[in-house]
Amino acid sequence: AAKAAGGARHQFFDEALNARSRERALLETELRHAIEAGQLCLHYQPKVDARNGRIVGAEALVRWQHPERGLIPPGRFIALAEESGLIVPLTDWVLHAACASQRRWAEAGLRPLPLSVNLPAVSLVDSRLADQLDELMMVHGLEPSCLVLELTETMLMRDVNTAVEVLERLRARGYGLSLDDFGTGYSSLSYLNRLPMTEVKIDRAFVTDVARGGRDGALAAAIITLGSELGLQVVAEGVETEEQSAFLLGRGCVLQQGYLFSRPVPAAAFERLLARGTAREPEPEACA
Ligand code: C2E
Ligand code: MG
Ligand code: MG
Ligand code: MG
Repeated sequence: AAKAAGGARHQFFDEALNARSRERALLETELRHAIEAGQLCLHYQPKVDARNGRIVGAEALVRWQHPERGLIPPGRFIALAEESGLIVPLTDWVLHAACASQRRWAEAGLRPLPLSVNLPAVSLVDSRLADQLDELMMVHGLEPSCLVLELTETMLMRDVNTAVEVLERLRARGYGLSLDDFGTGYSSLSYLNRLPMTEVKIDRAFVTDVARGGRDGALAAAIITLGSELGLQVVAEGVETEEQSAFLLGRGCVLQQGYLFSRPVPAAAFERLLARGTAREPEPEACA
């Protein structure tokens, strides 16, 4: 009987596993189709100068507008894209769409701002990256300084020597280089010094508890000092409250991104923010 029960359990797990892999295979097929069918879109989150709310840049974040499942966040399909290799055409699409937006905004007479895009790990071992980017700049009539490439520590630490080589080439051509989610990976401080970054982003995890005087406040403050000493732009991500913003400002971190200023928004809404110049909603007027 015990053996029979074990067999049944096995069968149950096998079926659960099969259901999971079928679901994944379906999602993969759908994602492959989505890239070609134009179901991906970019939302934009402003990066602001927290002293005055002025928009000084933006991050492009991909979403999948699924015909039946609605808007799918990247957390649900980027890993799958990386495992299946679909991340390559997906990244091509993201870079192209980001540059096309920049072009459109320039033509609409909006103030030019650097736009950040997130790159996957494979980009760093793709020897075509620099040439591919240069071609995009040419096609869209843009300067490399209007593009910031966001990379995570974990990605860079896989092969530091190659990363340094690729990044130096990109940096020499004028692209901005941002170290995303800083503090969550395993890089040592000496590596940070070797990477030719222009910017470091303090991960949301350190920002969340910042005003409570806890340890994260100390870590955020240390990252701000370190980044500034290394001559990097320091950006805090995930700023949600006035307290967090004020604490970071007090420590010299003026560049901030987060729901306090604006959620990531579709292109049309972002263009309205850009035209206005500031990301904060003006204080609601008092009722008469
Ligand atoms: P990330 O690059 O660290 O982006 C920041 C994430 O935090 C975004 O989530 C953003 O919507 C969210 N966020 C911003 N402000 C706040 C806040 O105040 N509070 C909270 N709770 N969250 C905030 P999103 O858009 O879901 O993206 C998640 C991750 O997916 C990104 O993390 C990035 O690693 C990846 N990703 C997004 N777009 C792309 C892309 O085009 N290509 C690749 N390879 N990865 C992407
Ligand atoms: Mg990012
Ligand atoms: Mg980040
Ligand atoms: Mg993050």
